[in-house]
Amino acid sequence: MMNSLVATSRNFKNAAKLLDLDSKLERSLLIPFREIKVECTIPKDTGEMASFIGFRVQHDNSRGPMKGGIRYHGDVQLDEVNALAQLMTWKTAVASIPYGGAKGGITCNPSLLSISEQERLTRVFTQKIHELIGTHTDVPAPDMGTNSQTMAWILDEYSKFHGHSPAIVTGKPIALGGSLGREAATGRGVVIATEALLNENGKTISGMTFAIQGFGNVGSWAARLIHEQGGKVVALSDLSGAIHNANGIDIPSLLTHVFENGGLLKDFSGADVIGSSEAVLHTHCDVLIPCALGGVLNSHNSDGVTAKYVIEGANHPTDPEADEILNDKGVIILPDVYANSGGVIVSYFEWVQNIQGFMWDEDKVNSELKKYMTKSFADIKESCKTHCCDLRMGAFSLGINTVARATVLRGWEP
Ligand code: GLU
Repeated sequence: MMNSLVATSRNFKNAAKLLDLDSKLERSLLIPFREIKVECTIPKDTGEMASFIGFRVQHDNSRGPMKGGIRYHGDVQLDEVNALAQLMTWKTAVASIPYGGAKGGITCNPSLLSISEQERLTRVFTQKIHELIGTHTDVPAPDMGTNSQTMAWILDEYSKFHGHSPAIVTGKPIALGGSLGREAATGRGVVIATEALLNENGKTISGMTFAIQGFGNVGSWAARLIHEQGGKVVALSDLSGAIHNANGIDIPSLLTHVFENGGLLKDFSGADVIGSSEAVLHTHCDVLIPCALGGVLNSHNSDGVTAKYVIEGANHPTDPEADEILNDKGVIILPDVYANSGGVIVSYFEWVQNIQGFMWDEDKVNSELKKYMTKSFADIKESCKTHCCDLRMGAFSLGINTVARATVLRGWEP
């Protein structure tokens, strides 16, 4: 698997070439605005002390406050956070929302921490970075391993220093000013994106078969909404492994099973276990939707993909080498910077609602989300036409060009 920063930067450089970007501007766009690395020491429930490393990479702020999630995972490293922060910069630009890009994380395994240990860790991390984030400078959100409760702790800790500031984080609980529809937004956006691509190819979700890797927030919402729209989800996976049912998995019963049994797909009686999470990638289906970690499609396993379409619900699930293999096989890939942008788009709506002090109903959130994603799909297609390129390069060149224009307009006089 390729280093994620190398992979993301390679995509950036290829798009910069298509745009014929000035080499000095190219260099300035690639280097992050600021990298923060902090030590977070907490007492465990046993009274023992434990130290963790936390990161926040603020990549670019030429178009607005920097924006991006905070990830709790054992693989969190500076390069990875850097790559994800860079992706957020292009993602917010592709979505035409007035933000830059950032990402944060703590190297930890949240499943090995109690709720109160997670709370202490989140509060210590917030104490270390509170002077560097802000409603108009950098606005965190949930990502892998974090959720609305994590955002509530950040909001509370930040407010001790700066006064009540609901817009300091998005993806909060509704009771603290979170937006209706934010929980489902990334999965809903994945489905809107899938529909846009399929419609363009004369197809619809109904009647197509889907394989989804990951059954967390993104994968489970995508599965639920695809099922509701008449799509057949034939394979799914989580950390416990992959399950398959050629007649289509009954998603509502699976969700009940997961809710009642604390979450393992492999124990679900309505499907067969087919191996590890990777088995989903090779399942016979029309549409493959990776919604878990980065780099899952790589030079070793991409040849076995049978799907016609890959929708990147995860961030950078496809290595550049896998991109080439899949392109040669005629697979159409809908890139992460568009496909999973529903989350940050509804984060933007949440921030706007907090700043205006006026909350929207769920229908408004969902219809605005659809409007933004339909527009950015058309913008990407236009960019593909201009640069004669695939969807990834179309999306990257659209995002990079938008940020480059903003940077040039602001000038670089010190
Ligand atoms: N973590 C999500 C992403 O990767 C959402 C970020 C946000 O809402 O700021 O896009």
